[in-house]
Amino acid sequence: MRWIIPGLGLLFGAYIGLSHPGALAQATAPAPAQGVVPAATAPATQARAKHAVIFSIDGCRPDVLLRADTPIIHNLLKEAAFTFYAETTDIAITLPSHTSMLTGVKPATHGINFNSDPPDGVYPKVPTVLEIAHAHGLTTGVFSTKSKFTVFTRPNTIDYVAISKESSSADDIGIANKAAEAIKSHKPGAMLVHFGNNDRTGHAKGWDSPEQLEALAGADKSVGIVLQALKDAGIYNDTLIIISADHGGSGTNHGDKLQNGEKDWRSRYIPWIAVGPGVRKNYDLTNVRSLAIHTEDTFATACYFLGLPIPAGIDGKPVTQIIANRNLVMPVPPASARNPATTRNLVTPIQPATTPR
Ligand SMILES: [Zn+2]
Repeated sequence: MRWIIPGLGLLFGAYIGLSHPGALAQATAPAPAQGVVPAATAPATQARAKHAVIFSIDGCRPDVLLRADTPIIHNLLKEAAFTFYAETTDIAITLPSHTSMLTGVKPATHGINFNSDPPDGVYPKVPTVLEIAHAHGLTTGVFSTKSKFTVFTRPNTIDYVAISKESSSADDIGIANKAAEAIKSHKPGAMLVHFGNNDRTGHAKGWDSPEQLEALAGADKSVGIVLQALKDAGIYNDTLIIISADHGGSGTNHGDKLQNGEKDWRSRYIPWIAVGPGVRKNYDLTNVRSLAIHTEDTFATACYFLGLPIPAGIDGKPVTQIIANRNLVMPVPPASARNPATTRNLVTPIQPATTPR
């Protein structure tokens, strides 16, 4: 296993451990592309988080997650607002999608439309939630099992970094342990924790293969290691947790479109699971008919909960429907107030068939 420390080129497992150089970060972080919207619509006090952890299980197709032996995530649903019908960004491959997840904009805006190790000095054109958090005094971390995630480690914006070269089951657990170590010793304000073995296994053995189900079981254990660290550090109840993915897949590949140009929903649907202070519990957001969740919403929701300014003009939105004290829908008026002429039976009798069918 190999760990990368961007900018230093050292191996084996340490972190960049900067002592919170907020002023330096503000000088080097990119200016937002447009003006920023003050967090004037800040959530109610109980929905404010002091920390945020964004988990990404690479290539996690929602129905495969539900079939896998993933007791930690399954149990977490009881304290979560979630949907298994969130949609990834315009390009359903790893680096463009993760960049949309972390910047709130589509690839055409953030500029990361490649899926390989970034050239030196290449970072998203707009700030990530981690960079905005850092510029506002929070410490930050990037923990990933793919080397190309150095694209999220712009100098002087990330305090704790562990990135492994390979995506194996051991690396998922290894990176979880690195994140747990950082949480217990430093309690970072905002973190990305990325597990890549599910995607690697999908490409090697197929999506929904027994091997991939096993990989998801490993990712579940890895999530559990980090959640336990949050509890051990005493910050679990102050942390917004989002568990999502960059894309799904089928066969041994993924992409946003099929050969005939139709959208490939097996690649495009991703899970989106939110837990945190003030977050609605055991609620399937799929039931909110007016709501569609996109990966760009992860950025906006994390900013919202952390009280960070949300850049104007982004594609994502804070998913305020996850807040427990917000109405999801208008209350149904009492029956006496309804117009009988517009009240219809829910079940319409089926007319007998008069013609063969
Ligand atoms: Zn991926």
